Amino acid sequence: MTSYTPTPRTTLHRRAHRGSYDRATVHAILDEALVAHVGFAVEGNQMVLPMTFVRIDERVYLHGAPSNHMLKALAGGAPLCLTVTLLDALVFSRAASHHSMNYRCVVALGQAREVRDLAEKKRVFDALVDRMAPGRSQQARPATEAEMVATRLVVLDLEEVSAKIRTGAPFDEEPDQSWPCWSGLIPLALEAKAPVPVEGLAPGHEPPGARK
Ligand SMILES: Cc1cc2nc3c(=O)[nH]c(=O)nc-3n(C[C@H](O)[C@H](O)[C@H](O)COP(=O)(O)OP(=O)(O)OC[C@H]3O[C@@H](n4cnc5c(N)ncnc54)[C@H](O)[C@@H]3O)c2cc1C
Repeated sequence: MTSYTPTPRTTLHRRAHRGSYDRATVHAILDEALVAHVGFAVEGNQMVLPMTFVRIDERVYLHGAPSNHMLKALAGGAPLCLTVTLLDALVFSRAASHHSMNYRCVVALGQAREVRDLAEKKRVFDALVDRMAPGRSQQARPATEAEMVATRLVVLDLEEVSAKIRTGAPFDEEPDQSWPCWSGLIPLALEAKAPVPVEGLAPGHEPPGARK
């Protein structure tokens, strides 16, 4: 199956033509995003927290301290909503009301479960580090078994998932197209700047390659 099946919960209502359930599209957005916002509720309190994450095949992994309130709740089966957003441009229409943004986002719903298997944990922790720079997990001191046991890992299967994407030019109604102000796109991108080595770094160590 090349697409996720829309459910009543993942059916887009407004501007549904911007929606996509294509797996490759969803994977590409998840893989480019560095931060996910995870929404959940415990004892009637709703919360949304930013987290690092990694996707492997049809699974998204989150990790943190065992005392992490959210991970404890998710490991216990609390329903979650995970979103990522990539901003591509500010969209300046002539009409104030049509200002917008170009974006690519994903919403994934479901229930996570805890991963305790150490071989899977090692694979996921390596993948988390390699997201920052390919091959970095082979350079850094490997996580010890004690560190892995002391880190909670939860996984969400990608099943109830949607993407939404806005691309292209500003929209203006015909009467507004002669309104005397600038109109167009200001493209946005997350940019890696020059590496800053730690103080006292021994010579001969190259910085990790830039993330693609
Ligand atoms: C940077 C940015 C700024 C935005 N600003 C606004 C704004 O100011 N006002 C506004 O009304 N909308 C805004 N949106 C769009 C917003 O995210 C919703 O898509 C929109 O509110 C329509 O919701 P709905 O009622 O159709 O969907 P709902 O009925 O609330 O959602 C139904 C299902 O549709 C899917 N879905 C909805 N939105 C998204 C999404 N963005 N990405 C992936 N799947 C989605 C989910 O699976 C969700 O469970 C913005 C989006 C982005 C990325």
